[in-house]
Amino acid sequence: MEKRCVVVIGAGPSGAIAAALLKRNGHDVLVLERQQFPRFSIGESLLSHCLDFVEEAGMLDAVMAAGFQRKNGAAFAWGDRYSAFDFGDGFTPGKPTTFQVQRADFDKLLADEASRQGVEIRYQEAIIAASFTGPQPELRVRRADGSEYGVQASFVLDASGYGRVLPRLLDLEAPSNFPLRQAVFTHIEDRIDSPDFDREKILISVHPRLRDVWFWLIPFSGGRCSLGVVGSAERFEGRPADLEACLREFVAETPSLANVLANAVWDTPVRTIGGYAANVKSLHGQGFALLGNAAEFLDPVFSSGVTIAMRSASMAAGLLNRQLKGESVDWQADFATPLKRGVDAFRAYVEGWYSGAFQDVIFHQGGSEDIRRMICSILAGYAWDETNPFVKEPVRRLRMVAEYCAHEAAGAGEELPV
Ligand code: FAD
Repeated sequence: MEKRCVVVIGAGPSGAIAAALLKRNGHDVLVLERQQFPRFSIGESLLSHCLDFVEEAGMLDAVMAAGFQRKNGAAFAWGDRYSAFDFGDGFTPGKPTTFQVQRADFDKLLADEASRQGVEIRYQEAIIAASFTGPQPELRVRRADGSEYGVQASFVLDASGYGRVLPRLLDLEAPSNFPLRQAVFTHIEDRIDSPDFDREKILISVHPRLRDVWFWLIPFSGGRCSLGVVGSAERFEGRPADLEACLREFVAETPSLANVLANAVWDTPVRTIGGYAANVKSLHGQGFALLGNAAEFLDPVFSSGVTIAMRSASMAAGLLNRQLKGESVDWQADFATPLKRGVDAFRAYVEGWYSGAFQDVIFHQGGSEDIRRMICSILAGYAWDETNPFVKEPVRRLRMVAEYCAHEAAGAGEELPV
């Protein structure tokens, strides 16, 4: 049986960042990745905060030099309403810009950077079984040719994303409290010629009649975009079975988006993914911790997935470094609980998005600049900054500001305390 210090399952963003951070602290790390890179992945619009972890892992120069589309904020459209947030205007000091990336290229770049720093990555090797009952965790690995071997580690980080390796093998899965939703998406040559279109922002468009149905339009460099529609399962009932026809039908019903895409060339097969929201009973156990999507995934609407994945990787790598150096650490108090605080802040705004309350706030004209700055920071990914009242008390603050917007819309026009 091969013996290693840390084994990371999966070489996506959380795996690559965690592995590099541990290696930079002098630990032996082996990453086992089921697929060959580059490989397609969804999740293409990054938030500013995720670049803090790219920088921490010594990969920022490589990402900056890669030619990805710069992103400076998020824009929202609903009918003739348009609301744009510039990350540079946020309440929390942080990075004013980030990138929109084809994940095949981005994930390969991060993994290659981890390798360059000395991390060993084995591609096309999948974890198929795990045992945490002995003195050290043991994993069973299957190579592409069907042969198998065992590896023992002092600690395992599960960064397997939607593979959810340890949650499945250790019976850790828990139901998400979000309803079943589906996304239908593709890449297009966008041919957008409107001078009003801001390529440096993700455009989130709300369906004119169905407020729980929304679209992403994520500009890449090179005149291409990622386009997708998201809705609950019943919103797809009665729609064309052909995915391209289905996506085209939703777009055609949404004039503000259809106009932007009038000249687009649809040159890539349309894909779908559904039931992606997931949760677990625990983020850690004896000899392991769960990172990124292997732990929990909320919803794509605020592009928080990669940021949460990298944040979890950075926190886990820091704690594991201390543990491997002989310190006694508390995974609940120093990893799971503080990670969950930011995730729960995102959760409140995702719930508010689908209830309509947060949409009312986003599309409200006028109102407090201070409040917009605080909301802007959350949209930039700084959802762990508890000096931001909208992070510290997300549910109460959102309720207050939504009530205020409703009042103002009704003509009351009163001041809202921050
Ligand atoms: P992944 O990126 O999924 O990487 C996991 C890796 O583990 C994969 O390479 C996989 O091959 C490997 N693996 C799996 N099983 C095994 C195994 N048995 N053995 C070895 N390796 C294994 N996030 C954003 O930040 N911005 C967005 O715009 C965005 N849009 C989204 C849109 C949709 C519709 C959805 C569903 C999600 C979106 N996300 C977005 C979320 C984003 O996709 C994920 O949060 C992010 O990819 C998680 O990164 P990760 O490192 O945890 O996992």
